[in-house]
Amino acid sequence: MAEADNTPTGAGSQPVAMPIPGHIDPLPVDRPGLVGGITPRADGKIDLLGLPRPRIAELFADAGLDAKQAKLRAKQVFHWLYHRGVTEFSAMTDIAKAMRPWLSERFVIGRPDVVEAQHSSDGTRKWLLRTADGHEFEMVFIPDADRGTLCVSSQVGCTLNCRFCHTGTMRLVRNLTPGEIVGQVMLARDALGEWPRGRMDGLEDEEDEGGYSADGRLLTNIVMMGMGEPLYNFDNVRDALRLVMDGAGLALSKRRITLSTSGVVPLMARCGEEIGVNLAVSLHAVSKDVRDEIVPINRKYGLEELLQACADYPGASNARRITFEYVMLKDKNDSDEDAHELVRLLRKYDLPAKVNLIPFNPWPGAPYECSTPERIRRFSNIVFEAGISAPVRTPRGRDIDAACGQLKTAAEKKSRAERDREELERIYAEKQAALD
Ligand code: SAH
Ligand code: SF4
Repeated sequence: MAEADNTPTGAGSQPVAMPIPGHIDPLPVDRPGLVGGITPRADGKIDLLGLPRPRIAELFADAGLDAKQAKLRAKQVFHWLYHRGVTEFSAMTDIAKAMRPWLSERFVIGRPDVVEAQHSSDGTRKWLLRTADGHEFEMVFIPDADRGTLCVSSQVGCTLNCRFCHTGTMRLVRNLTPGEIVGQVMLARDALGEWPRGRMDGLEDEEDEGGYSADGRLLTNIVMMGMGEPLYNFDNVRDALRLVMDGAGLALSKRRITLSTSGVVPLMARCGEEIGVNLAVSLHAVSKDVRDEIVPINRKYGLEELLQACADYPGASNARRITFEYVMLKDKNDSDEDAHELVRLLRKYDLPAKVNLIPFNPWPGAPYECSTPERIRRFSNIVFEAGISAPVRTPRGRDIDAACGQLKTAAEKKSRAERDREELERIYAEKQAALD
């Protein structure tokens, strides 16, 4: 592979990451035109999805509305966008009829394009999505008995080259915009049929609340564990998650959102302060040598520094523990000694911790194998016996290329893709019909 140009140019408001010595660590740079976090569209219209209310008001004012009107319309549109999941201005019944075409001539409410959707026999659903400028990324929905978790991507590809991770092998990297991040949540709710079915005549107060209660939701949790390193796209991830948490919209509690980082230490405190979600850390190894090899950001921010940042994480407590992810790699990080060392480190830093043991999900050409089930069980028992919860994550959606980054490369099944696209179109048509 050619040497990457590590010069931090044009990163705009993105956090500046230093190159990792000896490793390709290109910076995610905004592409030309990606100014202000909006991906330009071929039709020249502006996508409102992902923009905060004041920015929507600003755009309405720029397009000619007076300040008061612009603010009011922004509030109404925001409600339709995030509370009702509406994608057409024509459905916004409390906005004057004449105003609706004025809006749709200038603006759109976008969704990522669906390239392919897969449904596993265990209920797991996986989508290969595409941005308006043609970049592909993934999203996964994992239903369980008591929750439904959406695994959201923060970047196309990843600049960090963790050796066991398929996403890390992708060369092309671009930060997803807030709209492309929150768009994943919107699309999942579309596909799950999860928007309130209230009367669409502007009498919001009378809508059928029974159809939309916290308990009845299918999508209850979000994990930033899809493609990319969320803390290398901090501003956009923060802005997107603020929209997801906004009480006037999707209103998901911060306690139901988890951000996973490979250990971008300088941004961890800001994550706690400015986003306030649960933290997961991809630890994966307990010695410098092994972590340097498999999670190369460790060469820049070492284990001690990382664990100290975890100990200082705002909001962490015994009620809100930090999750330590640990991928089980045969003969690499899975010995009894490793398990004991893990316990020692977590105790040393007095961390409110739980450990998530992840069986390695192999991909073609991967340099590792998964530990044996007996080894994983033994490792789990050692940690558990020390009083730290250490469940083994059950692999999900194995029949649909489960590991992150795998759908993107395996997207050759055209006839199936066609079928799934039709399914999504049908869902949209039904939604539209419900509005008419
Ligand atoms: N970049 C962030 C979040 C995305 S990766 C991070 O690294 O934390 C989400 C989780 O999946 C991480 O814990 C990552 O280490 C793990 N993962 C990646 N590839 C995997 C594979 N092939 N098998 C098992 N887990 C994997
Ligand atoms: Fe990037 Fe996370 Fe994969 Fe590492 S594990 S390459 S940080 S997505």
